[in-house]
Amino acid sequence: MRQKGPLKQFDEFDAWSFSRLGESIRSEDVKFDFPRLASDENILASHVESWEVSGRINAKSESVIRFKGRFTAELSCVVCDSGVQHAIDFDRHLILMTSEAQADGYDEDTLDEDTDVVACPGAINLRDWLEDEILLACPMFPKHDACAEEAGRSWREEGADIEDTDDHQDDTADGPTQEVQRPFANLSDLLKKSKK
Ligand SMILES: [Zn+2]
Repeated sequence: MRQKGPLKQFDEFDAWSFSRLGESIRSEDVKFDFPRLASDENILASHVESWEVSGRINAKSESVIRFKGRFTAELSCVVCDSGVQHAIDFDRHLILMTSEAQADGYDEDTLDEDTDVVACPGAINLRDWLEDEILLACPMFPKHDACAEEAGRSWREEGADIEDTDDHQDDTADGPTQEVQRPFANLSDLLKKSKK
């Protein structure tokens, strides 16, 4: 057998042993590029300041991977299309399940908002996974405060005649709501692809 610790295996990262061993990896120790972050047309500029991936076994004996970090991004405002600066902290705990069926059957009502369940049937590309978490942390409808106010005003003035009004519910999602491709959909593809 080749001697390769889990820390060396970023392309075929073994999240299960990583969490069992309580390992962690930080941006101070490993440099990753994030090509999708760089090429996303809605992200005008971005800088990942720091990240940490750590593993543990929780009180219910489940394997958990935590993604934590901070980045700044200039995102395209949904109202005026020019850049709006965001400093974004992310901190997500992902409980690993060996199959999609197990992950789907998990009672997510028992989880807090920072915790999710993912199917992780085999090795996974850690860099891609981290990048997914960073993309997921981006606000879905970035906008300048002034633009949000302006848009809120014009919607109120135009009343119920405007299309899409029944789709916006609160201040986090009051842009015209469209079918947004959730980055998470890609994560499950990624997990499937990584299955040997
Ligand atoms: Zn704007």
